[in-house]
Amino acid sequence: MIDLHSHTDHSDGSCSPVDLVRLASSAGLRALAITDHDTLSGYDEALRSDLPRSLELIQGIEITCKWNQDNVHLLGYFLSADAGAAFREWLVESHGHRRERNIRLVKRLNELGVDIVLSEVEALGRTMTGRPHFARVLIAKGYARNMADAFSKYLGEHAAGFVERQGPGMAEAIERIRAAGGISSLAHPVRIDFENEAEEKAFLGDMKDAGLEAIEAFHTDHSPADTERFLGFARHFGFAVTGGSDFHGTNKSETRLGVPAVSMEWLARLRALA
Ligand code: AMP
Ligand code: FE
Ligand code: FE
Ligand code: ZN
Repeated sequence: MIDLHSHTDHSDGSCSPVDLVRLASSAGLRALAITDHDTLSGYDEALRSDLPRSLELIQGIEITCKWNQDNVHLLGYFLSADAGAAFREWLVESHGHRRERNIRLVKRLNELGVDIVLSEVEALGRTMTGRPHFARVLIAKGYARNMADAFSKYLGEHAAGFVERQGPGMAEAIERIRAAGGISSLAHPVRIDFENEAEEKAFLGDMKDAGLEAIEAFHTDHSPADTERFLGFARHFGFAVTGGSDFHGTNKSETRLGVPAVSMEWLARLRALA
């Protein structure tokens, strides 16, 4: 069994890279991809540690892209050894957009009467400070009961505190991953808000034309029927298939490493493309 979608504490997971690799190994996984949001530093750190021999560590990333008004997540795998200076500079640029959003978010929350400063949020999230870290501060200070409450009251897309973050379009991110020698895969497609299946298929066709190579058919958020539908789309459009838990440790307690089960075979097919 393998897991091609996981997060460390370099983005919004709760485990350090080393602990995550250990956990994956003791869960009996044969391969684990670290796919932190907009950074390779968790993978880089895991790579420098003593890796268990039974586990193959796969380089990955998850990029937040813009599509219409929506945020759509794009996974990248097997980027060339160091992913290249251009790709890493592009990531650093995105950290600037994140920080700029966070500054505006603090201002907005202050306007709403919340006592919060950027430094206390950044103490939790460092370079990858995001809304989950804001949520933890809001909970600790009694402004929200839990994560869901923090997002529905303050941080979610329909909440009073919401501020937009700049991000790349899908086509740009697909091209950046390709230029870095990687394979792109559409993350948890069930989360994209389509009016109907015709719109979903048109989108997948457009992504195919833009160079998308795979879709994530297996994911914690997918029902068995969703998985079947996405496997069908993969056959129809000629996409490779990826899958994983989207493990975030205690930051998203409904995720478990290696669940749903993903077979080694999909990894072999993906690697054949790289
Ligand atoms: P950011 O990249 O800072 O905008 O934060 C995005 C992260 O916030 C996502 O990766 C999720 O982990 C989390 N998130 C987004 N919406 C919600 C929500 N409604 N409830 C809980 N967590 C959420
Ligand atoms: Fe996340
Ligand atoms: Fe995601
Ligand atoms: Zn993820």
